[in-house]
Amino acid sequence: MDQGFNPMKPSFKVLVKDKNARAGVIKTSHGDIETPAFIPVGTKATVKSLTSEQIREIGPQVVLVNTYHLHLQPGEDVIKKLGGLHSFMNWDKPMMSDSGGFQVFSLGIGLEKPGVKFLKDLDDGRSKVESRNLKIEDRKLIHRPSSIINNLSSTIYPLSSNDEPRPRLNKITEEGVEFQSHIDGSRRKLTPESSIAIQEKLGADLIIAFDDLESPTYSYEQTKKSLDLTNRWELRSLKAHLTFQGEAFQGEALRGKRPNQLLYGVTHGGEFEELRRKSAKFVNSNFDAVALGGAHKNKKNLYEVVEWTVCELDEDKPRHLLGVGEVDDIFESVARGIDTFDCVIPTRLGRMGHVFAGPPLGNIRNRFRYDITKSKFVSDEKSIDPKCQCWVCQNFSRAYVNHLFRSRELLAYTLATYHNVYFMVNLTNQIRDSILNSQFEKLKKVWIKS
Ligand SMILES: [Zn+2]
Repeated sequence: MDQGFNPMKPSFKVLVKDKNARAGVIKTSHGDIETPAFIPVGTKATVKSLTSEQIREIGPQVVLVNTYHLHLQPGEDVIKKLGGLHSFMNWDKPMMSDSGGFQVFSLGIGLEKPGVKFLKDLDDGRSKVESRNLKIEDRKLIHRPSSIINNLSSTIYPLSSNDEPRPRLNKITEEGVEFQSHIDGSRRKLTPESSIAIQEKLGADLIIAFDDLESPTYSYEQTKKSLDLTNRWELRSLKAHLTFQGEAFQGEALRGKRPNQLLYGVTHGGEFEELRRKSAKFVNSNFDAVALGGAHKNKKNLYEVVEWTVCELDEDKPRHLLGVGEVDDIFESVARGIDTFDCVIPTRLGRMGHVFAGPPLGNIRNRFRYDITKSKFVSDEKSIDPKCQCWVCQNFSRAYVNHLFRSRELLAYTLATYHNVYFMVNLTNQIRDSILNSQFEKLKKVWIKS
């Protein structure tokens, strides 16, 4: 489709490669994103506990917001009326929005669909399958590579008095997904067309096609069926997107339209190589940008999935890995050619008092973090990570942060989140520099001892 001259359309370029690791730049009308880059999650147009001024100070180049949540509250029309998301949340840099399909699944179908189970990573690095109704205490301990789990635990609520998610009546049809709002119980429908229309109104720079979500416990046949539906929904997402983009360039219609969005197709296929390759080829041939989604069995399978997928992709398309943000996963995925990541881990774990630390304090065994709320830090005058240059580590002791958590002071969330997001941004900056200087493998070895 000829969209004509489009100076604001986001573009991507690989600048330097160090084996398969890439340093590149995504250009958007809200600025450049130098990759590899970590994208903090601001589900409801806020990175929880941080002001947009603090986020700017920390330095992520882009934030991710959630279409499902913003559709339900306050609604895309309200946000559009107020000038779009950038203006609404006072964030003038690049922004990514997801399609909402994930939350529809995790908030409803994921809890209802018979046989749906989720993976939990154990502290020793193995994974086990958990049944669907996780108790809140279980969810607090879950750190997993799969986006299905990350988003599940980030969005299950409201909780009833006994802390169990309420069952919901959701239905997948060829047209889309019917679900019940978790806010007021009203019946809603999300389709590829409505997801793209909502994302167009929200106005993020990078948007994501509407997809169906497979469970890691699906058989080959079930996964294939889900993938086929995803492919049909993604083509409808693309058509809706191109319609908006086309209209945006037709004179009068330009007003209020977004000619500057980059649509990511999402790859699926579960643990199966054949389906993963097929999905990668499909997305690569139809979309200008690729997001790796769906379920994986464990870390090993995650890295395999990245390898299989990347093999089938053009070099000049940006590659986003959905919902992955453990330090070792970032190194291993960058090594296989991934450019961007989003993950709730630094923000969610921060609010629970788990703070990140780089070597030598942090290592693969303690998963680069520790629990600042423990009694041994009550009078510890050191900073969270003595090597960290963030505002929190330059100004506050472990003892103070420990005290805030123990006193349930709100500032605890801000300080821990600030440090954790800084940690991830700083890590990906170091990774980028190492690729530019052909030192990526060396940096990886320092962090992930082989
Ligand atoms: Zn710090």
